[in-house]
Amino acid sequence: LKKIGVMTSGGDSPGMNAAIRAVVRTCAYHEIECYGIYRGYEGVMEGDFVKMDARSVKGIINKGGTVLKSARSKAFRTKEGRQLAYEKLTEAGIDGLVVIGGDGSFTGAMVFNSEFDFPVMGIPGTIDNDIVGTTHTLGYDTALNTVVEAIDKIRDTASSHNRLFFVEVMGRDVGHIALNVGVGAGAEEILIPEEDLGLDRLIDSLKRSKASGKSSSIVVVAEGDKIGKNVFELKDYVEENMTEYEVRVSVLGHMQRGGSPSCFDRVLASRMGVKAVESLLEGKSNYMVGLKDDIIQITPFDQAVKGKSKINKELLRVSDIMTV
Ligand code: ATP
Repeated sequence: LKKIGVMTSGGDSPGMNAAIRAVVRTCAYHEIECYGIYRGYEGVMEGDFVKMDARSVKGIINKGGTVLKSARSKAFRTKEGRQLAYEKLTEAGIDGLVVIGGDGSFTGAMVFNSEFDFPVMGIPGTIDNDIVGTTHTLGYDTALNTVVEAIDKIRDTASSHNRLFFVEVMGRDVGHIALNVGVGAGAEEILIPEEDLGLDRLIDSLKRSKASGKSSSIVVVAEGDKIGKNVFELKDYVEENMTEYEVRVSVLGHMQRGGSPSCFDRVLASRMGVKAVESLLEGKSNYMVGLKDDIIQITPFDQAVKGKSKINKELLRVSDIMTV
């Protein structure tokens, strides 16, 4: 390989910049050229490339978001779009691609590879941690810390007013964030997509905690909780069925995706960037780099995208015990 392109695609996450920096510097270390591609697959089809050298990525390891911008692209889902992408890459002499993104971005890379035999390698960047083949995706650790900090602040006001707060956190399909911040911030209950706690049990549990002398409570709710009610419907239900608390709702939203990456995410991004480039240089293609047993390993894209990441059920029990 002579020229590697690097891009960020899909939802942004903290640590993407640290990964871009790692890819660019690993290329420089091995004396091959590196091109940054703007706005994901949109930029590939437009030939929106910029040559990046080791110094061009200074001062970004600590920045949230992505300096290369991110996008979702309808056109890349079409054969014509991918043909155009192939032409733009070959025109520029780019002969390998590192895609930093989620499972959708990897599916796009996989389709592109199957059509044009173009070398591709993925780095998982999403706060949801919903990808198999890695125990941690880039941005997940930062998001956990951001959310715990936010819930600590909500607890201050909850306990001053004897309130019950429903706090909605990201997680449409998986409850990793909810489960971990629920334990980390001492939530009374945690509602996740994988487990149906049931409304009766929720009310019982809240009544029990009030009777045991608690003046305020926090319930962490993943966007896709299995009870099937959103946080505002939960508030209404609880207010109709118990009078012990004043109930409030806080939807944390996009602030969970921002902020300076944690040390863990910066180190992970650096390791993944090195592995992605060196795997391409070894002639490997169609893999995602990931962390397993604290070793950076690669997993074929098809396995990474079709698997469903599993929550750690031990945390549900730990949470139950902690709220005795
Ligand atoms: P996140 O989960 O953080 O949103 P993601 O990478 O899963 O990130 P998507 O919007 O699902 O985000 O995918 C990003 C882009 O990848 C899409 O906008 C599209 O251009 C491309 N893509 C996804 N699936 C396919 C596919 N089957 N064929 C071609 N391109 C695809």
